[in-house]
Amino acid sequence: MIKAIPMSYKGTHFRSRLEARYAKALDGYEVKWVYEVEGYEYDGVLYLPDFYLPTMNVLLEVKGPTIPGVEKPANLRKLLESGAVAKVDWWNPEVLILVGDAAGNVSLAGSDERAPLAKCRKCRGYFFLAESHSFECRLCGAHDGDHHLEA
Ligand SMILES: [Zn+2]
Repeated sequence: MIKAIPMSYKGTHFRSRLEARYAKALDGYEVKWVYEVEGYEYDGVLYLPDFYLPTMNVLLEVKGPTIPGVEKPANLRKLLESGAVAKVDWWNPEVLILVGDAAGNVSLAGSDERAPLAKCRKCRGYFFLAESHSFECRLCGAHDGDHHLEA
């Protein structure tokens, strides 16, 4: 297996170039991110999410071909959806858990459902939209069918 190459960006040390690329891309959309903010333990397994996006309450795991394992975010998503109480003070229980691949495609953890970036007409911000959850803007709460979204 090829090892991921660490990289610094804006004073943050990333484990891989792909993670740094995601940080840059998120900056390009003016999406606030926190890298490896804090681990979360469940069933004796420690999971340290790559990114937390505080303005939209999203955990984003970045998975390139040289970065193994998407089972942790998928398991955490299942756990939360089963109604387990997550006592973590830096996210709320409605957290959306997403996985981004090397091509920049983002989907729900443990699912094929895409979660593309959408732009809200009301607050002008970008957020990851998971249609099966809600069209509601995760930044400002705007909800008007999908009329509040730019094409
Ligand atoms: Zn909005």
